[in-house]
Amino acid sequence: MKTTKKIKKVKKKKKLKGEMSKKEKAEYVKAAEQTRSHTCHWPGCKEQIPPAMWGCKPHWFKVPRKLRGPLWDAFRPGQEIDMNPSQAYLEAADKIQRWIKKYGED
Ligand SMILES: [Zn+2]
Repeated sequence: MKTTKKIKKVKKKKKLKGEMSKKEKAEYVKAAEQTRSHTCHWPGCKEQIPPAMWGCKPHWFKVPRKLRGPLWDAFRPGQEIDMNPSQAYLEAADKIQRWIKKYGED
């Protein structure tokens, strides 16, 4: 009995470290709530979105898949709480902003 508990604890720890599977990560973001004021990262968009998300749905899907992928991979569940995203995440987010400046229209 005790062993099962231990395994569960380790699993939880792993999750907090951001070692979720892709499916778990998708579920985490999908279930994320509006815990504080946080707007879509598309320039000029005032849509309120959960801090675990990059942007509102219409804008997120305007971003090319090849730019969304790296951002998604670099996203660490919990970074929206401790406000400490990785360098990889920041770079991926920066690439998206540069793409929007060049090709995005609103
Ligand atoms: Zn938006």
